[in-house]
Amino acid sequence: MARYIGPVCRLCRREDMKLFLKGERCYTDKCGYERRSYPPGQHGQARRRRRSDYGEQLREKQKVKRIYGVAEKQFRGYYYKASRMKGVTGDNLIQLLERRLDNVVYRMGFVSDHAEARQLVRHGHFTVNGRKVNIPSYLIRANDVVEVREKSRKITRIIEALGVVERRGVPGWISLEADAFKATVKALPARDDVTMPIREHLIIELYSK
Ligand code: SF4
Repeated sequence: MARYIGPVCRLCRREDMKLFLKGERCYTDKCGYERRSYPPGQHGQARRRRRSDYGEQLREKQKVKRIYGVAEKQFRGYYYKASRMKGVTGDNLIQLLERRLDNVVYRMGFVSDHAEARQLVRHGHFTVNGRKVNIPSYLIRANDVVEVREKSRKITRIIEALGVVERRGVPGWISLEADAFKATVKALPARDDVTMPIREHLIIELYSK
């Protein structure tokens, strides 16, 4: 899958909000958005023109794709899946994204950002219900138990991430046992559990045209 490998702080500046893509740095005064909170590029500091409805929808979709590190084709797949599920399509879309294994290990505090989560999942450092899973898009279910594999518990990045998990906080749908390198999904995440400012109705409007 094609992945964005350019400077990530640029993405926050483009979306005009902190997307928390760079681990601990995002919480310090070295944050690129805190230092330059205007869009990147030559005309970044020019007065902003009002966006069209389409422009607003497009930006919202790009923002959510960047938060979760999902490419266009897969993101559109989540929309189709969400639209076929019972309930509100927007809520379903956010829940599907939240249930991805790479996002879940990030929420559990085992890693400091989504890119790191993706890499460590890919390299097979986690188990789900005792079985190794190395697919970042694997969808977690309620009562699943995620653990750092025995041989991976010495990885500095994981130890450091767990060291700051209290400050970062763990959402209510997860129960973390940091000392045991283990966490349980108590229930599937509800829309209210996601605190990032996401206007999913704009994404639904964009795709349902
Ligand atoms: Fe975004 Fe983090 Fe970079 Fe700040 S440090 S601009 S929140 S990626």
